[in-house]
Amino acid sequence: MKNGDVYSPVHLGRRDILLGGNKILAIAEPGGLHLSGLAVTEIDAADMLVVPGFVDSLVHISGGGGEGGYTSRTPEMQLSEAIAGGTTTLVGVLGTDAITRTLPNLLAKARALEEEGLTCLCYTGSYQVPVRTLLGTLQEDLMLIKEFIGVGEVAISDHRSSQPGVEEIARIAAEARVGGMLSGKAGIVSVHVGDGGSRLEPIEAVVESTDIPITQFYPTHINRSRSLLNAGKVYAERGGYIDLTTSTTEQILLMGEVAAAEALAELVADGVDSRQITMSSDANASLPSFDARGELIGLSVGRPASLHDAFAVAVNKHGVDLTSALSAITLSPARILKLAHKGRVLQGADADLVLLNKDGITVNSVIARGRLMMFDGQVIVKGSFE
Ligand code: ZN
Repeated sequence: MKNGDVYSPVHLGRRDILLGGNKILAIAEPGGLHLSGLAVTEIDAADMLVVPGFVDSLVHISGGGGEGGYTSRTPEMQLSEAIAGGTTTLVGVLGTDAITRTLPNLLAKARALEEEGLTCLCYTGSYQVPVRTLLGTLQEDLMLIKEFIGVGEVAISDHRSSQPGVEEIARIAAEARVGGMLSGKAGIVSVHVGDGGSRLEPIEAVVESTDIPITQFYPTHINRSRSLLNAGKVYAERGGYIDLTTSTTEQILLMGEVAAAEALAELVADGVDSRQITMSSDANASLPSFDARGELIGLSVGRPASLHDAFAVAVNKHGVDLTSALSAITLSPARILKLAHKGRVLQGADADLVLLNKDGITVNSVIARGRLMMFDGQVIVKGSFE
Protein backbone atom coordinates (compact mmCIF):
# COMPACT_ATOMS: atom_id res chain seq x y z
CA MET A 1 0.00 0.00 0.00
CA LYS A 2 1.80 3.06 -1.26
CA ASN A 3 2.05 6.60 -0.08
CA GLY A 4 -0.94 6.74 2.28
CA ASP A 5 -1.15 9.29 5.09
CA VAL A 6 -0.98 6.92 8.04
CA TYR A 7 -2.57 7.34 11.47
CA SER A 8 -1.48 4.49 13.72
CA PRO A 9 -3.73 6.09 15.39
CA VAL A 10 -0.84 8.52 16.04
CA HIS A 11 -0.04 10.49 12.89
CA LEU A 12 2.96 8.86 11.16
CA GLY A 13 2.73 10.80 7.89
CA ARG A 14 3.22 9.28 4.44
CA ARG A 15 4.24 5.66 4.50
CA ASP A 16 4.42 2.55 2.34
CA ILE A 17 3.05 -0.56 4.05
CA LEU A 18 3.79 -4.17 3.11
CA LEU A 19 1.12 -6.73 4.02
CA GLY A 20 1.54 -10.49 3.82
CA GLY A 21 0.44 -13.63 5.64
CA ASN A 22 -2.38 -11.69 7.39
CA LYS A 23 0.17 -9.36 9.02
CA ILE A 24 1.70 -5.94 8.58
CA LEU A 25 5.21 -7.04 7.56
CA ALA A 26 6.90 -3.67 7.16
CA ILE A 27 6.25 0.08 7.28
CA ALA A 28 8.66 2.47 5.58
CA GLU A 29 9.09 5.98 4.19
CA PRO A 30 7.66 6.25 0.64
CA GLY A 31 9.87 4.30 -1.75
CA GLY A 32 11.69 2.67 1.14
CA LEU A 33 10.49 -0.91 0.55
CA HIS A 34 12.53 -2.90 -1.97
CA LEU A 35 10.47 -5.80 -3.26
CA SER A 36 12.15 -6.74 -6.51
CA GLY A 37 11.31 -10.30 -7.47
CA LEU A 38 8.25 -10.49 -5.21
CA ALA A 39 4.81 -10.75 -6.79
CA VAL A 40 2.90 -8.04 -4.96
CA THR A 41 -0.39 -6.25 -5.58
CA GLU A 42 0.01 -2.50 -5.21
CA ILE A 43 -2.68 -0.21 -3.84
CA ASP A 44 -2.17 3.49 -4.44
CA ALA A 45 -3.22 5.22 -1.22
CA ALA A 46 -1.89 8.68 -2.08
CA ASP A 47 -5.29 10.34 -1.66
CA MET A 48 -6.20 8.37 1.44
CA LEU A 49 -5.79 8.27 5.17
CA VAL A 50 -4.66 4.80 6.28
CA VAL A 51 -6.00 3.88 9.73
CA PRO A 52 -6.40 0.68 11.78
CA GLY A 53 -9.48 -1.49 11.20
CA PHE A 54 -12.16 -0.51 13.71
CA VAL A 55 -12.68 -2.53 16.90
CA ASP A 56 -16.33 -2.71 17.99
CA SER A 57 -16.56 -3.98 21.57
CA LEU A 58 -20.31 -4.61 21.71
CA VAL A 59 -22.41 -6.09 18.92
CA HIS A 60 -25.46 -8.33 19.14
CA ILE A 61 -24.10 -10.39 16.26
CA SER A 62 -26.63 -13.20 16.67
CA GLY A 63 -29.56 -10.78 17.03
CA GLY A 64 -31.04 -9.10 20.08
CA GLY A 65 -34.05 -7.02 21.00
CA GLY A 66 -37.34 -8.73 21.73
CA GLU A 67 -38.51 -6.17 24.25
CA GLY A 68 -41.68 -5.52 22.23
CA GLY A 69 -42.60 -9.21 21.96
CA TYR A 70 -41.43 -11.95 19.61
CA THR A 71 -41.80 -9.92 16.43
CA SER A 72 -39.35 -7.37 17.82
CA ARG A 73 -36.50 -9.89 17.94
CA THR A 74 -33.82 -8.45 15.66
CA PRO A 75 -32.03 -10.34 12.86
CA GLU A 76 -28.40 -11.48 12.91
CA MET A 77 -25.71 -9.09 11.75
CA GLN A 78 -24.49 -9.60 8.17
CA LEU A 79 -20.83 -9.47 7.19
CA SER A 80 -21.14 -6.56 4.75
CA GLU A 81 -22.76 -4.33 7.39
CA ALA A 82 -19.56 -4.44 9.42
CA ILE A 83 -17.24 -4.19 6.43
CA ALA A 84 -19.03 -1.14 4.96
CA GLY A 85 -18.44 0.65 8.26
CA GLY A 86 -14.74 -0.22 8.44
CA THR A 87 -15.14 -2.65 11.35
CA THR A 88 -12.75 -5.61 11.25
CA THR A 89 -12.85 -6.82 14.89
CA LEU A 90 -16.03 -7.33 16.89
CA VAL A 91 -17.10 -8.66 20.25
CA GLY A 92 -20.46 -10.48 20.15
CA VAL A 93 -22.78 -10.42 23.17
CA LEU A 94 -26.20 -11.59 24.31
CA GLY A 95 -28.73 -8.91 25.29
CA THR A 96 -31.94 -8.68 27.32
CA ASP A 97 -33.16 -12.02 25.98
CA ALA A 98 -30.88 -14.87 27.08
CA ILE A 99 -33.66 -17.48 26.78
CA THR A 100 -34.17 -17.68 23.01
CA ARG A 101 -30.67 -16.23 22.40
CA THR A 102 -28.01 -18.60 23.66
CA LEU A 103 -24.25 -18.76 24.11
CA PRO A 104 -23.89 -21.72 21.69
CA ASN A 105 -25.71 -19.70 19.03
CA LEU A 106 -23.56 -16.63 19.77
CA LEU A 107 -20.39 -18.69 19.50
CA ALA A 108 -21.52 -20.26 16.22
CA LYS A 109 -22.23 -16.83 14.73
CA ALA A 110 -18.82 -15.57 15.89
CA ARG A 111 -17.16 -18.52 14.18
CA ALA A 112 -19.15 -17.85 11.00
CA LEU A 113 -18.01 -14.21 10.90
CA GLU A 114 -14.45 -15.35 11.52
CA GLU A 115 -14.70 -17.79 8.59
CA GLU A 116 -16.11 -14.98 6.47
CA GLY A 117 -12.98 -12.92 7.16
CA LEU A 118 -13.52 -10.77 10.26
CA THR A 119 -12.00 -11.23 13.71
CA CYS A 120 -14.86 -12.05 16.05
CA LEU A 121 -14.68 -12.68 19.80
CA CYS A 122 -17.43 -12.98 22.42
CA TYR A 123 -18.39 -12.33 25.98
CA THR A 124 -19.72 -15.24 28.01
CA GLY A 125 -22.33 -14.54 30.68
CA SER A 126 -25.51 -12.58 30.21
CA TYR A 127 -27.57 -9.53 31.01
CA GLN A 128 -29.24 -11.44 33.84
CA VAL A 129 -27.64 -12.72 37.04
CA PRO A 130 -27.02 -15.57 37.74
CA VAL A 131 -25.15 -15.34 34.44
CA ARG A 132 -25.42 -17.89 31.64
CA THR A 133 -22.35 -19.97 30.96
CA LEU A 134 -21.49 -22.65 28.44
CA LEU A 135 -19.38 -25.02 30.54
CA GLY A 136 -20.80 -24.32 33.99
CA THR A 137 -18.66 -21.46 35.29
CA LEU A 138 -17.36 -18.18 33.87
CA GLN A 139 -13.84 -19.28 34.68
CA GLU A 140 -14.14 -22.46 32.63
CA ASP A 141 -15.66 -20.55 29.70
CA LEU A 142 -12.80 -18.04 29.74
CA MET A 143 -10.08 -20.64 30.14
CA LEU A 144 -11.34 -23.32 27.78
CA ILE A 145 -13.11 -21.51 24.94
CA LYS A 146 -10.84 -19.42 22.76
CA GLU A 147 -13.44 -16.86 21.64
CA PHE A 148 -14.61 -15.88 25.14
CA ILE A 149 -12.49 -12.92 26.29
CA GLY A 150 -14.73 -11.42 28.96
CA VAL A 151 -18.16 -11.43 30.56
CA GLY A 152 -21.25 -9.41 29.72
CA GLU A 153 -23.12 -7.36 29.11
CA VAL A 154 -24.29 -7.66 32.74
CA ALA A 155 -27.15 -5.22 33.33
CA ILE A 156 -27.31 -2.80 36.25
CA SER A 157 -29.40 0.29 37.05
CA ASP A 158 -32.11 -0.84 34.65
CA HIS A 159 -35.71 -1.98 35.15
CA ARG A 160 -34.89 -4.87 32.75
CA SER A 161 -31.88 -6.05 34.80
CA SER A 162 -32.12 -8.82 37.38
CA GLN A 163 -31.30 -6.20 40.03
CA PRO A 164 -28.03 -7.84 41.08
CA GLY A 165 -26.63 -6.97 44.49
CA VAL A 166 -23.13 -5.64 45.07
CA GLU A 167 -21.92 -9.06 46.26
CA GLU A 168 -23.25 -10.78 43.16
CA ILE A 169 -21.48 -8.29 40.89
CA ALA A 170 -18.30 -8.67 42.95
CA ARG A 171 -18.39 -12.47 42.53
CA ILE A 172 -18.83 -12.16 38.76
CA ALA A 173 -15.93 -9.71 38.57
CA ALA A 174 -13.72 -11.93 40.74
CA GLU A 175 -14.38 -14.97 38.60
CA ALA A 176 -13.87 -13.03 35.37
CA ARG A 177 -10.65 -11.58 36.74
CA VAL A 178 -9.10 -14.93 37.64
CA GLY A 179 -10.39 -16.56 34.44
CA GLY A 180 -8.77 -13.75 32.49
CA MET A 181 -5.48 -14.04 34.36
CA LEU A 182 -5.26 -17.80 33.92
CA SER A 183 -6.06 -17.63 30.20
CA GLY A 184 -4.02 -14.51 29.40
CA LYS A 185 -7.18 -12.73 28.27
CA ALA A 186 -8.81 -9.45 29.31
CA GLY A 187 -11.41 -11.15 31.53
CA ILE A 188 -13.18 -7.81 31.51
CA VAL A 189 -16.78 -7.41 32.73
CA SER A 190 -18.89 -5.45 30.26
CA VAL A 191 -21.64 -3.69 32.20
CA HIS A 192 -24.86 -2.49 30.59
CA VAL A 193 -25.83 0.64 32.52
CA GLY A 194 -29.53 1.50 32.20
CA ASP A 195 -31.38 4.72 32.96
CA GLY A 196 -31.96 3.83 36.62
CA GLY A 197 -31.07 6.40 39.27
CA SER A 198 -28.23 4.34 40.73
CA ARG A 199 -26.19 4.86 37.52
CA LEU A 200 -22.62 3.50 38.10
CA GLU A 201 -23.00 3.12 41.87
CA PRO A 202 -23.26 -0.71 41.95
CA ILE A 203 -19.84 -1.15 40.35
CA GLU A 204 -18.34 1.73 42.33
CA ALA A 205 -19.53 -0.08 45.47
CA VAL A 206 -17.67 -3.24 44.38
CA VAL A 207 -14.48 -1.25 43.82
CA GLU A 208 -14.82 0.42 47.24
CA SER A 209 -15.63 -2.73 49.19
CA THR A 210 -13.24 -5.26 47.57
CA ASP A 211 -9.70 -5.44 46.17
CA ILE A 212 -11.03 -5.58 42.60
CA PRO A 213 -9.66 -2.63 40.58
CA ILE A 214 -11.93 -0.24 38.72
CA THR A 215 -10.37 -1.38 35.42
CA GLN A 216 -12.04 -4.79 35.82
CA PHE A 217 -15.26 -3.20 34.57
CA TYR A 218 -16.17 -1.84 31.15
CA PRO A 219 -19.46 0.03 31.55
CA THR A 220 -21.35 0.88 28.36
CA HIS A 221 -24.21 3.19 27.21
CA ILE A 222 -22.60 6.04 29.23
CA ASN A 223 -24.06 8.64 26.83
CA ARG A 224 -27.59 7.36 27.52
CA SER A 225 -28.44 10.56 29.46
CA ARG A 226 -26.81 13.76 30.60
CA SER A 227 -26.77 12.60 34.23
CA LEU A 228 -25.12 9.26 33.35
CA LEU A 229 -22.53 11.03 31.18
CA ASN A 230 -21.68 13.33 34.11
CA ALA A 231 -21.37 10.30 36.40
CA GLY A 232 -19.21 8.62 33.73
CA LYS A 233 -16.85 11.58 33.70
CA VAL A 234 -16.29 11.29 37.46
CA TYR A 235 -15.90 7.50 37.09
CA ALA A 236 -13.24 8.00 34.37
CA GLU A 237 -11.40 10.51 36.57
CA ARG A 238 -11.12 7.69 39.14
CA GLY A 239 -9.41 5.59 36.46
CA GLY A 240 -12.35 3.65 35.01
CA TYR A 241 -13.05 2.85 31.37
CA ILE A 242 -16.23 4.23 29.79
CA ASP A 243 -17.92 3.18 26.56
CA LEU A 244 -20.29 5.31 24.47
CA THR A 245 -23.02 3.79 22.29
CA THR A 246 -23.26 5.00 18.69
CA SER A 247 -26.53 3.39 17.47
CA THR A 248 -29.41 5.76 18.10
CA THR A 249 -32.50 7.42 16.62
CA GLU A 250 -33.72 11.02 16.48
CA GLN A 251 -36.35 10.16 19.05
CA ILE A 252 -33.90 8.61 21.50
CA LEU A 253 -31.77 11.76 21.22
CA LEU A 254 -34.85 13.93 21.82
CA MET A 255 -35.54 11.88 24.94
CA GLY A 256 -32.20 12.94 26.41
CA GLU A 257 -29.46 10.71 25.03
CA VAL A 258 -26.26 12.61 24.24
CA ALA A 259 -25.01 11.65 20.75
CA ALA A 260 -21.82 9.58 21.07
CA ALA A 261 -19.82 12.02 18.91
CA GLU A 262 -20.85 14.95 21.05
CA ALA A 263 -20.13 13.03 24.27
CA LEU A 264 -16.70 12.05 22.97
CA ALA A 265 -15.91 15.68 22.08
CA GLU A 266 -16.94 16.80 25.53
CA LEU A 267 -14.91 14.13 27.34
CA VAL A 268 -11.79 14.88 25.27
CA ALA A 269 -12.22 18.65 25.83
CA ASP A 270 -12.57 18.02 29.58
CA GLY A 271 -9.22 16.25 29.58
CA VAL A 272 -10.40 12.66 30.12
CA ASP A 273 -7.57 10.34 29.02
CA SER A 274 -8.47 9.03 25.55
CA ARG A 275 -7.15 5.58 26.56
CA GLN A 276 -10.17 5.30 28.87
CA ILE A 277 -12.87 6.32 26.36
CA THR A 278 -14.24 3.99 23.70
CA MET A 279 -17.24 3.84 21.39
CA SER A 280 -19.18 0.72 20.36
CA SER A 281 -22.13 0.30 18.01
CA ASP A 282 -24.50 -1.90 20.09
CA ALA A 283 -25.48 -3.04 16.60
CA ASN A 284 -28.47 -5.33 16.09
CA ALA A 285 -30.05 -4.15 19.31
CA SER A 286 -33.62 -2.98 18.71
CA LEU A 287 -34.26 0.75 18.71
CA PRO A 288 -37.91 1.25 19.62
CA SER A 289 -39.87 4.42 18.99
CA PHE A 290 -42.93 5.41 21.00
CA ASP A 291 -45.77 7.86 20.43
CA ALA A 292 -46.71 10.65 22.86
CA ARG A 293 -48.74 8.20 24.96
CA GLY A 294 -45.82 5.81 25.28
CA GLU A 295 -47.22 3.25 22.82
CA LEU A 296 -44.67 1.38 20.70
CA ILE A 297 -45.07 2.62 17.11
CA GLY A 298 -41.98 1.35 15.38
CA LEU A 299 -38.73 -0.53 15.63
CA SER A 300 -35.42 -0.15 13.91
CA VAL A 301 -32.14 -1.96 14.34
CA GLY A 302 -28.76 -0.66 15.51
CA ARG A 303 -26.14 -0.61 12.73
CA PRO A 304 -22.45 -1.56 12.89
CA ALA A 305 -21.64 1.40 10.60
CA SER A 306 -22.91 3.81 13.26
CA LEU A 307 -19.44 3.40 14.80
CA HIS A 308 -17.77 5.01 11.78
CA ASP A 309 -20.56 7.59 11.51
CA ALA A 310 -20.00 8.76 15.10
CA PHE A 311 -16.23 8.91 14.55
CA ALA A 312 -16.71 11.03 11.42
CA VAL A 313 -19.17 13.38 13.13
CA ALA A 314 -16.79 13.76 16.09
CA VAL A 315 -14.03 14.89 13.71
CA ASN A 316 -16.01 16.78 11.05
CA LYS A 317 -18.61 18.49 13.21
CA HIS A 318 -17.17 18.64 16.72
CA GLY A 319 -13.52 19.17 15.81
CA VAL A 320 -12.15 16.22 17.79
CA ASP A 321 -8.57 15.56 16.65
CA LEU A 322 -8.23 12.53 14.41
CA THR A 323 -5.95 10.60 16.78
CA SER A 324 -8.30 10.91 19.78
CA ALA A 325 -11.40 10.07 17.73
CA LEU A 326 -9.66 7.10 16.09
CA SER A 327 -8.31 5.84 19.42
CA ALA A 328 -11.88 5.48 20.72
CA ILE A 329 -12.66 2.92 18.00
CA THR A 330 -9.24 1.29 17.53
CA LEU A 331 -6.37 1.35 20.01
CA SER A 332 -8.30 2.02 23.22
CA PRO A 333 -10.81 -0.85 22.90
CA ALA A 334 -8.00 -3.15 21.67
CA ARG A 335 -5.95 -2.33 24.79
CA ILE A 336 -8.89 -2.76 27.16
CA LEU A 337 -9.76 -6.09 25.50
CA LYS A 338 -6.06 -7.13 25.54
CA LEU A 339 -6.00 -7.64 21.77
CA ALA A 340 -2.33 -6.83 21.24
CA HIS A 341 -2.40 -7.27 17.46
CA LYS A 342 -5.50 -5.18 16.86
CA GLY A 343 -6.35 -1.50 16.61
CA ARG A 344 -2.93 -0.23 15.51
CA VAL A 345 -0.87 0.22 12.36
CA LEU A 346 2.35 -1.35 13.53
CA GLN A 347 4.83 -3.82 12.13
CA GLY A 348 3.78 -7.29 13.29
CA ALA A 349 0.18 -6.29 13.98
CA ASP A 350 -2.70 -7.98 12.11
CA ALA A 351 -3.28 -6.62 8.61
CA ASP A 352 -6.59 -4.91 9.47
CA LEU A 353 -6.65 -1.55 7.72
CA VAL A 354 -9.17 1.02 6.59
CA LEU A 355 -8.55 3.56 3.84
CA LEU A 356 -10.54 6.74 4.39
CA ASN A 357 -11.21 9.30 1.68
CA LYS A 358 -9.54 12.53 2.79
CA ASP A 359 -12.71 14.38 1.91
CA GLY A 360 -15.23 13.64 4.64
CA ILE A 361 -13.25 10.67 6.05
CA THR A 362 -15.73 8.26 4.46
CA VAL A 363 -14.72 4.59 4.17
CA ASN A 364 -13.07 3.85 0.82
CA SER A 365 -11.47 0.43 1.26
CA VAL A 366 -11.18 -2.21 3.98
CA ILE A 367 -8.61 -4.96 4.52
CA ALA A 368 -9.34 -7.59 7.19
CA ARG A 369 -6.63 -10.09 8.15
CA GLY A 370 -4.81 -9.28 4.93
CA ARG A 371 -7.80 -9.76 2.63
CA LEU A 372 -9.31 -6.93 0.60
CA MET A 373 -12.98 -6.86 1.68
CA MET A 374 -14.04 -3.46 0.31
CA PHE A 375 -12.39 -1.51 -2.49
CA ASP A 376 -13.08 1.98 -3.79
CA GLY A 377 -16.43 2.25 -2.02
CA GLN A 378 -17.71 -1.21 -2.96
CA VAL A 379 -17.98 -4.15 -0.56
CA ILE A 380 -16.43 -7.02 -2.52
CA VAL A 381 -16.71 -9.86 0.01
CA LYS A 382 -20.27 -10.65 1.07
CA GLY A 383 -21.57 -13.00 3.74
CA SER A 384 -22.80 -16.49 2.87
CA PHE A 385 -26.47 -15.42 2.60
CA GLU A 386 -26.09 -11.93 1.17
ZN1 ZN B 1 -26.93 -2.90 26.66
